[in-house]
Amino acid sequence: MPTYVNPDKCDGCKALDRPACMYICPNDLMVLDRALGKAWNQEPELCWECYSCVKTCPQTAIEMRGYGDVVPLGAALTPLRGTDAIMWMVKYRNQQVKRFKFPIRTTPWGSIEPYKGLEAPNLEALRQPGTAGWQKYLGVDRLPVAAKP
Ligand code: SF4
Ligand code: SF4
Repeated sequence: MPTYVNPDKCDGCKALDRPACMYICPNDLMVLDRALGKAWNQEPELCWECYSCVKTCPQTAIEMRGYGDVVPLGAALTPLRGTDAIMWMVKYRNQQVKRFKFPIRTTPWGSIEPYKGLEAPNLEALRQPGTAGWQKYLGVDRLPVAAKP
């Protein structure tokens, strides 16, 4: 199901240069109408349905809406994100609403140590061209380069 921005809820991320949904969309689908201060999905048929925008929207303005041929018109699915769970609101075609809570964490918010027990990555090395671990996995000490004509 592609995403749909409810214009009644979207506040355009308070006129930020790059609203949260635009920042996070891996397919560059979300755009902001600056005059209206509302975002929208410019090509729903290209939506990867990753729901990153749905989960990051601070206004819970983004819903999932199915195509009319597979999901009844009028139905929608909206998440309300909390710190330890997402409350999903399922709205049926007859406007009946059901909610269920889905836990998303097993540890308290902010408590994760991302490199616990591991060496922190060298950020400078990450900016260099090349493939991770190529020396080890290709067994060479340098990569081939194209000869200059
Ligand atoms: S993240 Fe939500 S509130 Fe912000 S612009 Fe996108 S849809 Fe609107
Ligand atoms: S669901 Fe994913 S691909 Fe679709 S608009 Fe949102 S962030 Fe982009």
